[in-house]
Amino acid sequence: MSLALLRDEGALEGYARDVSGLRRVPEAVARPEQAAEVQELMRQSAAEAVCVTPAGAQTSTTGASVAERGWLLSTRAMARIIDIDRERRIARVEPGVLIGDLQRACAGDGLFFAPDPTSEEECTVGGAIACNASGPRTLAYGSTRRHVRALTAVLADGTEFHAQRSGVEKNTLGYQLAHDPVDWFVGSEGTLGVVTEAELSLLPVPARVLGLGVPFPDEARALGFIVAARQEPRVKPRCLEYFDRESFAIARAAMDDAAWAPQAGAMVYAEDAGDGDPPLDDWLALAERFGANAGDVRAFDGEQALREARRLRHALPAAMHERTAPFLARGGRRMSTDWAVPYPLAASALNTARQIADAHHLPPAVTYGHLGNGHPHQNFVARDADEVRRIERAIEESLHAIIAMGGTVSAEHGIGKIKSKWLPLQAGPRQMALMRALKHEFDPEGRLAPGNIL
Ligand SMILES: Cc1cc2nc3c(=O)[nH]c(=O)nc-3n(C[C@H](O)[C@H](O)[C@H](O)COP(=O)(O)OP(=O)(O)OC[C@H]3O[C@@H](n4cnc5c(N)ncnc54)[C@H](O)[C@@H]3O)c2cc1C
Repeated sequence: MSLALLRDEGALEGYARDVSGLRRVPEAVARPEQAAEVQELMRQSAAEAVCVTPAGAQTSTTGASVAERGWLLSTRAMARIIDIDRERRIARVEPGVLIGDLQRACAGDGLFFAPDPTSEEECTVGGAIACNASGPRTLAYGSTRRHVRALTAVLADGTEFHAQRSGVEKNTLGYQLAHDPVDWFVGSEGTLGVVTEAELSLLPVPARVLGLGVPFPDEARALGFIVAARQEPRVKPRCLEYFDRESFAIARAAMDDAAWAPQAGAMVYAEDAGDGDPPLDDWLALAERFGANAGDVRAFDGEQALREARRLRHALPAAMHERTAPFLARGGRRMSTDWAVPYPLAASALNTARQIADAHHLPPAVTYGHLGNGHPHQNFVARDADEVRRIERAIEESLHAIIAMGGTVSAEHGIGKIKSKWLPLQAGPRQMALMRALKHEFDPEGRLAPGNIL
């Protein structure tokens, strides 16, 4: 079996960019339809000593899914949901399945896949595994890693590697880092192998979910509310999403609801999930403690209303892309931070990051994100290449402060090519050496996803 490699300009250009704005034209594009073709392709690449970068839907914000050199392997034609075992709540899927499609396939059985990146309608399961993606509901259910039970990957030499979580509750099998090979591949950004199949855990849809949009007079009180909501036993938040004044304006416009608290300086979208009646009074009492006006709170109850509420959050990246589009030709791009800190420190981390941005005379960032997990996205619109460099310098300066607070350089979008220079700020020499050793064990010639992570 030999797989055709596409080399016409249209195909190459079609895969030359991901959402980061980075442009890297691959030497060829492969679109395998089954695992055996991936194996064949990797054998061929080994024989010709060519690099291969796997790609899903190319929604990466870090340049991870464009090929620094060599071939690009698109998994989009491997998009079968192989099996959904309703009893055991397990889905077996190929890597090119869109998360949104998986959700729809499970919904009729009262099940769902917990990871919910805002890009869920556009991104693949393989990409989510390779980036360990997360989303608003990560607050309650954890990131993708927790929901991957097993996976099969094709390695750089074309052999197959299968990893399955053991399920034991106790384990003393030497060093912890060798316990569970599934964990090596989750978050590996295409650098260890091409995931060709995954077994995913599904969860039962909660009996009831209540969404609440709560406007606040200012950021300090909104963030105080978020911290309190995590600590208050009477409410059960499964997501706590923050919108600054400008983000709330964008969301309001997306909902066509100009009259919704136009004076507010910030807004928090919370979801409470459980079995009994939603504790609406407890939520309102908590919000009022932080200066919210109960009359401004919007409740989203029922499946249709919750879908509406998702538009609040989904409008934000789309608006930022629109704002950036005119500047792409001049070397500008959207630059979104992905750092996170322990959640009680988020207010102080944001203040520090803003002071640094001001000192660098940057245009104001639009800030929103998963503050329940201490994880804001500051979104800058860089208008040209010089501004890209100035914003990068400011972000790097902020990262020193973030790391000093016990934070991380990247909470969900991965390292890719754009952030690899910042990885050693956080990972010490021994951590870097261990990561290189793992990479060398699986891909000694460094042919998989060159430029990603290391
Ligand atoms: C509007 C928007 C909103 C977003 N919101 C979120 C969010 O809320 N949370 C979040 O975590 N991310 C978010 N992202 C980032 C991105 O969507 C996620 O990282 C997503 O999981 C990437 O999936 P993908 O299919 O597009 O992968 P790609 O971008 O194609 O690839 C991403 C990485 O995965 C690797 N890869 C892809 N498939 C495979 C495979 N089968 N085997 C091995 N490696 C593979 C690639 O080599 C690359 O390193 C957002 C992006 C956008 C554009």
